[in-house]
Amino acid sequence: MLDIMNRQKTMIFFGAHPDDETFGIGATLAQYIAAGVKVYYVCATGGEVGTVDPEYMKGFATIADLRSAEMKCAAQVLGLAGVIYLGYRDSGMPGSGDNKHPDSLAIASIDEVASLIVKIIRELKPDVVVTHDAGGGYGHPDHIATHNAVLKAFYAAADPTQYTAAGPVFQPSKLYFLVRPHGFMKVIVKIMPLFGQNPHQAGRNKDIDLTRMLDTNYPVHAVIRLNKQSLQIRNKAAACHASQGGGRPRQGPFRVFQIIEKLRGQRDYFMRHYPPPTNQRPERDLFEGMK
Ligand SMILES: [Zn+2]
Repeated sequence: MLDIMNRQKTMIFFGAHPDDETFGIGATLAQYIAAGVKVYYVCATGGEVGTVDPEYMKGFATIADLRSAEMKCAAQVLGLAGVIYLGYRDSGMPGSGDNKHPDSLAIASIDEVASLIVKIIRELKPDVVVTHDAGGGYGHPDHIATHNAVLKAFYAAADPTQYTAAGPVFQPSKLYFLVRPHGFMKVIVKIMPLFGQNPHQAGRNKDIDLTRMLDTNYPVHAVIRLNKQSLQIRNKAAACHASQGGGRPRQGPFRVFQIIEKLRGQRDYFMRHYPPPTNQRPERDLFEGMK
């Protein structure tokens, strides 16, 4: 998959919470790590307002402590080269009071968040940068804030007139957004009522509106076919995030889709933002075309 010449290839995934590195993109990260790529996870918040059943809190003073321990476990299983926290507070679901907490990512200035990201990009010099899509997946304010800050920082990192205190400029080769195929989500939302589930109130806490994922039909420019070993690693990492439902069997329509995916082979999908995509066939490798 990769032609590793003199320098080890580097990828950074910028996500909002401890678990986004596993639940969304974990198998892709594991696959690249197995191929010799250095992969870092930059996590914008500590996941402070994730809901946690009391049984998981044993031995931990705060939810952030618990989630940091879960993150450490997942990082080890995935084989990440490092996990870097930006230090913001989880903003909670859309419309929740946590959005307005003074430390929350949702109200942090994009300039401040981008300055931290620029510093990381200039230091780690990633070839490939990946983050959430513009709609934040299902509209989570932290996913949207992370996307916006990464987009700004991606260009600023290469601009010698910006963030001059953040070290010498660096231009990563590619920027991708993790997306879910529109057709796939359309069917999920349609069949959920057949399983007695409301797509507007999905998830463990019934606070995820999956129909938000249909607001925008993001183009797919890269499709990563996931091998069995990467999927196994992802599932093992998911079990680390036990307080967030990782490792438990999936239910309802997601279970049906899991079976369908198993039969046709599993994939992760990406929209390419930089360099601007052309009309060619979807890439099969996020490092495609690179020297
Ligand atoms: Zn998240």
